[in-house]
Order: sequence, then structure tokens, then C-alpha cells
Amino acid sequence: MEAGIVGLPNVGKSTLFNALTSAGIPSENFPFCTIEPNVGVVPVPDGRLDTITQYIPPQKVIPAALRLVDIAGIVKGASEGEGLGNKFLSHIRSVDAILHVVRCFEDDDITHVDGSVDPIRDIEVIDTELMLSDLATVDSALQKAARNAKSGDKDAKARLALLQKCQPVLAEGKPIRNLIASGSLDPEELKALKSFGFITAKQVLYVANVDEDDLHGEGELVSRVRARAEEEGGAVVPVCAKLESELAELDDADRDEMLESVGLEEPALAALARAAYKLLGYQSYFTAGEKEVRAWTIPIGATAPQAAGVIHTDFEAKFIRAEVYTLDDLVQHKEEKAIRDAGKLRAEGKAYVVQDGDICHFLTGA
Ligand code: GDP
Repeated sequence: MEAGIVGLPNVGKSTLFNALTSAGIPSENFPFCTIEPNVGVVPVPDGRLDTITQYIPPQKVIPAALRLVDIAGIVKGASEGEGLGNKFLSHIRSVDAILHVVRCFEDDDITHVDGSVDPIRDIEVIDTELMLSDLATVDSALQKAARNAKSGDKDAKARLALLQKCQPVLAEGKPIRNLIASGSLDPEELKALKSFGFITAKQVLYVANVDEDDLHGEGELVSRVRARAEEEGGAVVPVCAKLESELAELDDADRDEMLESVGLEEPALAALARAAYKLLGYQSYFTAGEKEVRAWTIPIGATAPQAAGVIHTDFEAKFIRAEVYTLDDLVQHKEEKAIRDAGKLRAEGKAYVVQDGDICHFLTGA
């Protein structure tokens, strides 16, 4: 899973990215500080891994991972090549989801590019650039589909009809995810939509960068962002990037102490990762052995062969069967042999839909 971080300059993108990845890339009060898209891989915290390792102590534990790409440089006019423009739009096209950081913190020392703190206006500035970019994609795809539809191409006719639904939405200043959230597209159209690679069709998780004091109880700015997110089928996670960057510097014991002192249970990454998983319809299953205990990310509804294919692409075609048990089985019986003896180790075939938290062994052929 790969998420791209976008947002106006000076809203706290680099601060958050650094905190989440502890990559140590520079963060200055300076627009365009992050010139190259920075990629970081962050582990997704999951308490179930701790439970499994209590019973099956492995040599290593590998949590699920979220790839974060810090995409700076989207400013007014980006779709026309303004600022660092087009280069960055192309980076957004390749990510699974967008983390849109919006400034909800007040700080007179930190310049806001538009002079005042207004997250909805900020969202609209970025969205406008992304919509203009999609509109250009729609316009050229429309011409092509119209040409091909004339010669009787059935596929082109369907594409033309779909594009004719997208075009007015964008022209009206709404992202394509609103069209998706409205439920008016059928499954065929949703599938076809993917092939166009529209940026505004991607799910957005708004990250409201708030003051430390605003982490408890939702302020008016965050409420407005939340209303916006709900309209488009998205979500919002309040985070204090500054606090996260301080937490990231500490060792485990000090971090726990600091979290407690500010009344938080966990660093923001855990909440962010959970929200991103939910938004994208992802879940985890586990593999567990003496060598490693590991979490794997799959879409909800993935079958056992598809889940095996995440470990190794060959496994999907060579899948024979899966042996599956649950975390509860492990807690109750304490070891795999006892689970097997109790008749709880299920043999599942190709049609089995893997459930969140399943612990699996895959048997594959040559
Ligand atoms: P970017 O341009 O969006 O990447 O923004 P940066 O991460 O470089 O942050 C811009 C400035 O805002 C830096 O000086 C940060 O220290 C500061 N900043 C970031 N997050 C917060 C926050 O939650 N509260 C306050 N007061 N300042 C912040």
C-alpha cells in the first residue's frame, strides 16, 4: 500500500513525514523545501502481532508496511506547470491513496501561503489543481473514445458514456471521488474508471494538523474538514505533527511517558494507518512460524490464492490449499499442534475468502 502526502507549503507535511518515517529529511519554514518526492516505509502497528509472538516466538517480526511518498510542490497553477507542477502530479497518479495534510494550527511565526488558516480553502486550492489535471485527461480521453465509438467499437461507447458522467462533475469543481461516493456508477463503470488513472478518483484521508491542545475534543476547523471528508466518502485524522516529531526522537520508554503526559494512547501513525486501511478496504492476515511472524496486507474479499499471491506472485497459480486458524484458537490452545489436535486447523480451498486476522499456512505445488 502506497500513500502520497500532499498539502500546501508550510502546513506540516515534511514534519509529519519525518516523524512517521524518522527519515531525517529537512523541514524548514520555507515553501518548496521538499523538492524531490521522498519515499519512506513505515511499519503499521498491530497489537495482534504481539499476541501471536507470545505463543510462537519467532526470530523476527515483520509488520505490514505503508509506503509514504512526500509529494511537495502543489500550489496554485500546478496543473499548468506552476511551482513544481506537473512532475508532482505524475507522482500522485501512482499512489493508492492520498493523505492530504491541512493546517489547522495557529502559529504567527509560521507563514501561511495564503495569509490565514482556513483548511477548506486550502483543500480547494489543491483539489482545483488535481481536478484541472483530471479534466485535461478526460478531455483527451473523450475525443479518443468519441472517435472509436463512431466506428462502432462497443467498448469505446461504454468509455464514452462513463467519461460523459465524469466531465460535468469535474467541470462543476467536484472531485471524481464524489461521483463514486454518490453510488451512481455500476461495478463495470467503477472498474473502467480505474483504467483512466484519475487523481481525484483516489480516496483521500485528510490529516488535520492541529495544535497539541486541540488533540482532545474536536475544534471547529477539524469539524469542517470532517464534514468535507464525509461528503466524499473519505475520513479525517487529527494529528499534531510537531508533537509527533518530538515523539519520534524518543526511545520507547520516554515516548510512552510523553504520550501519557499529553493524554494519548499511541502515536498518530497507528490511527493514520488504521484509517488508511479502512478507507482503502484493506485488512491483514498473518503467517506465523519460528523464523518469522508476519502481517500481510490484502483487500477485503481476497480469496486464499489471492492472499497467497501477496507473499509471492507464483503462489497464486500454484496454490493447492491453505491451513487456517484464528487468533482466538491460538490464545485458547497456545500452540499449533494443539489447534490441529482439537480439529480447529481448517483446510481451506481456492474459494475461501480470507478473513481479517486469519493465521495461514499455504501449500503450493511446483
Ligand atoms: P511543509 O512545507 O508542508 O512540508 O511544512 P513543514 O513540515 O516544513 O512545516 C512548516 C513549519 O511549520 C515548520 O517550521 C514546522 O516546524 C511548523 N509546524 C509543523 N507542524 C506544526 C504544528 O503542529 N504546530 C506548529 N505550531 N508548527 C508546526
